[in-house]
Amino acid sequence: MSSFNQPLGGNEMARFGGPATMMRLPAQVGAQGLDVAFIGIPMDHGTSNRSGTRLGPRQIRDESRMLRPYNMATGAAPFDHLQVADIGDVPINTFDLKKTVDIITDYYDEVLSHGAIPLTLGGDHTLTWPILRAMKERNGPVALIHVDAHADINDTMFGEKVAHGCPFRRAWEDGCLQNDKVFQIGLRGTGYSPDDFDWGRRNGWTVVQAEECWHKSLTPLMAEIRARIGDAPCYLSYDIDSLDPAFAPGTGTVEPGGLTIWQGLEIVRGAAGLNLVGGDLVEVSPPYDPSGNTALIGANLLYEMLCALPGMPQGVRR
Ligand code: MN
Ligand code: MN
Repeated sequence: MSSFNQPLGGNEMARFGGPATMMRLPAQVGAQGLDVAFIGIPMDHGTSNRSGTRLGPRQIRDESRMLRPYNMATGAAPFDHLQVADIGDVPINTFDLKKTVDIITDYYDEVLSHGAIPLTLGGDHTLTWPILRAMKERNGPVALIHVDAHADINDTMFGEKVAHGCPFRRAWEDGCLQNDKVFQIGLRGTGYSPDDFDWGRRNGWTVVQAEECWHKSLTPLMAEIRARIGDAPCYLSYDIDSLDPAFAPGTGTVEPGGLTIWQGLEIVRGAAGLNLVGGDLVEVSPPYDPSGNTALIGANLLYEMLCALPGMPQGVRR
């Protein structure tokens, strides 16, 4: 009998029954005693186009119900090695975005004080900046793998400093990032000027545009990224709109020509071996995909992040 929390099995309760926690794990209040905490941030007041990501955490939890504990591809068995639970949602202020980012930082500071690694169910991408602020307090500046159709480095949107197109500009200003270890993957679409992507490059970041990813495996790219990040603490921020809308239509700022599912899996699986200190899966907007498949993909990518965490034996590699 394992001493670790286990997801409720498919033969114990029908998969469409029981409480809708992440992976049907136990729910608990706070991160005491946990190695890993799944956390929802039900917000969309940072979005600039279609909203709806406030409903993301709930649908990701619901669609996570088919996830089984063992990773057939990598051999990872996270619930044999890590104490994991769903600690619910951050009590954001849905009428005040600026208060919300401070609420998030305080909440993650508390989570990190228990030594738990946070894996976050978004929510719009604004939320990564306040998480990175809390990370900086605990770990110092982090390396970053940012998978997205967009650079999210706008100085302002409508004159506002807090928005889902600005989190990495704010994180940079706050000294949250190791600039020679920042990797943005999947960027594409239309912009205002080349500077939309070159701003990061000028700051030492590596930007891998979607077109550089087309028609090929990203496993070699991830090997290069692992070599360059080394043992630095690393945060993984995964915007679901990095995927092509053919795979993941349920999001607010869609760009064609994106990554494939299998490239997304290669990226997250390729993060195994890094000193991952946290991760998020953001921008799932349920109203734009009534099938739930976008949320289901998001749930799977969060599970893959769990399987890639430090100390996780990777049984086989395919
Ligand atoms: Mn984003
Ligand atoms: Mn995006």
